[in-house]
Amino acid sequence: MHSYISSPGKTAQILSRYGIRLKKSLGQNFLIDTNSTKKIISYANVNADDVILEVGSGIGSLTEILLPRIKRVVCIEIDNLLIEAFKDIFKESLGKKIQLIQADALKLNYTDIAGKHKINKVISNPPYSIAAPLILKILIEAEDIKKLFITIQKDIAERLIASVGDKNYSSYTVKSNFLADFNFCFQISRNCFLPKPFVDSVVVEASRKDNKALMEKNFKTGDFFDFVNGCFLHRRKKLVNSLSQSNTRYCHKLELVIKLLSEIGKNRDVRAEELYLKDYISLYKKLNT
Ligand code: SAM
Repeated sequence: MHSYISSPGKTAQILSRYGIRLKKSLGQNFLIDTNSTKKIISYANVNADDVILEVGSGIGSLTEILLPRIKRVVCIEIDNLLIEAFKDIFKESLGKKIQLIQADALKLNYTDIAGKHKINKVISNPPYSIAAPLILKILIEAEDIKKLFITIQKDIAERLIASVGDKNYSSYTVKSNFLADFNFCFQISRNCFLPKPFVDSVVVEASRKDNKALMEKNFKTGDFFDFVNGCFLHRRKKLVNSLSQSNTRYCHKLELVIKLLSEIGKNRDVRAEELYLKDYISLYKKLNT
């Protein structure tokens, strides 16, 4: 019977053969449960036309299951030792079905990479420390990537799906939800990872939103995000106070902001975590007309 890389035995064998000691600093928690790796790929509904971006490919636990089902995969990995093992394990597919890029995933330009390789989907189990900014970065930069299936620790997922008033509701929630809809696919127990993390993970599906109509009306995503960041500058303080102390071009438009807040039924004491995404969009549009 075929023994998958994501089986505990095969992972252990590979780590020992290549002398790999997993690094906590790089969030190297490998999936060692083939049911989970297969389930991720099945949720992602991949097909023979898909070109996938996999950030943090490690020793290829997900890559191996993906490979026979897709056109190509572009793998990003930072760790030298894992790169060497990966190259050896997948030598037949390298440069053909697999493009391997050794880099820090947060320093790459996804407009260029997605354009060059015609990537249309992300399937990734990224390291904990970069997962949140990475999701936002890919959504901002790679407009042709419409779907992301990301395995993330539960606390990050809670920030993505938090609702107004929730303790996890933040500027991150507003910005990511401006760009995409997020959906919980399923949970993966911490026992399915090596080494075992402190919390369980979930697979989240991000579906890019079509903001074309907004953009045609001179809506600038970067400037909108500055505005949202300004509103959330000091958690649990009044939005207007945060904005006044922010380094944004909106810090001098407080009277107008207060007037616009009243138009959406909010008074000047409202806090940033009390406004919905649609409220931020409406405020921003009116501030810029
Ligand atoms: N895909 C494998 C799996 O599912 O078992 C490994 C996932 S592991 C959670 C995250 C991987 O990301 C590790 O292989 C780690 O070396 C790599 N990594 C960590 N920081 C990175 C960074 N800044 N850029 C690219 N890869 C990174």
